[in-house]
Amino acid sequence: MLQQTQVATVIPYFERWMALFPDPAALARAPEEKVLRAWAGLGYYARARNLQKAARVLAEGGAWPADTAGWKALPGIGEYTAGAVASLAFGTRAPILDGNVARVFSRLVGLDFLPGDKAEAGRAYWDLAARWADHARPGAVNEALMELGALVCVPAAPRCPACPLSAVCVARRDGRENRLPPLKKRVKAEVVLAAAVRVRDARGRLLVERRGAGAFLAGHEMFPLFLGDEARAETWQAAFHRRFPGLRLKNIRAAGRVRHSIMSKRYDVQVWDGEAAGSGSFPGPIWTREEDVEERLTNSLARKIWKAGNR
Ligand code: SF4
Repeated sequence: MLQQTQVATVIPYFERWMALFPDPAALARAPEEKVLRAWAGLGYYARARNLQKAARVLAEGGAWPADTAGWKALPGIGEYTAGAVASLAFGTRAPILDGNVARVFSRLVGLDFLPGDKAEAGRAYWDLAARWADHARPGAVNEALMELGALVCVPAAPRCPACPLSAVCVARRDGRENRLPPLKKRVKAEVVLAAAVRVRDARGRLLVERRGAGAFLAGHEMFPLFLGDEARAETWQAAFHRRFPGLRLKNIRAAGRVRHSIMSKRYDVQVWDGEAAGSGSFPGPIWTREEDVEERLTNSLARKIWKAGNR
């Protein structure tokens, strides 16, 4: 939950999650829809799915992994999470390296490159992390490094006079604490054209579909959404009729525009309104009452689409 998300934001989610799924067995047997609903608002839904997959492995195996390799074998657990769990929860001498810790290391020993720059760069950082974790209380050391990066050795204006490492810090000695680590090269976001349509039937209910496996936002309920070539003003209606055979649209009008970023992509969504003529013969339509839309559509893009323009 904490990846790319601040602690204060995560706390209510975490508490709700633990009340719903107090142990791996509870998470393992929960329907995916319930899991995604509990995660709604945190984004990066693959993490919720991986957490459930990992819970299933743990629930079947019946035991927690004893070492970092065991944690890394679980879905969605990488080097950092494995090290954090193994050292903080189980006292294993496992290294950790997140953005905060990398910043501390860069300044402390004067590394003028980032861990992701090239393979050797990552190794230099992980070697340092391993040396710090080789301690009688590796969990405490790792937690201290993370806290130091979060509270003292902060990105802009590090609080060096308050830092317990200031006497041995290379950046501090050389007056380079504001120049290390080097800035990340900005990756330009890829723009993806999209069209979404809010279709109402004669009773004022809205058409919602569940996104198929492998699709963008798989497993989520969403207004009919078309991406890329299918999203152009002159093509989305044909794509709509292929997906919802027999459901004709009338009174189609542009309703607004929505921009939404996920990872390195920026979705530029034209929102349309339309009315359904005929009931259609497609499988699994979910006609949703207007008052239930907010509750039903849990992902933030769907909510933006719902709020776009005038309804
Ligand atoms: S002395 Fe300053 S730059 Fe060095 S680790 Fe401490 S806070 Fe960071």
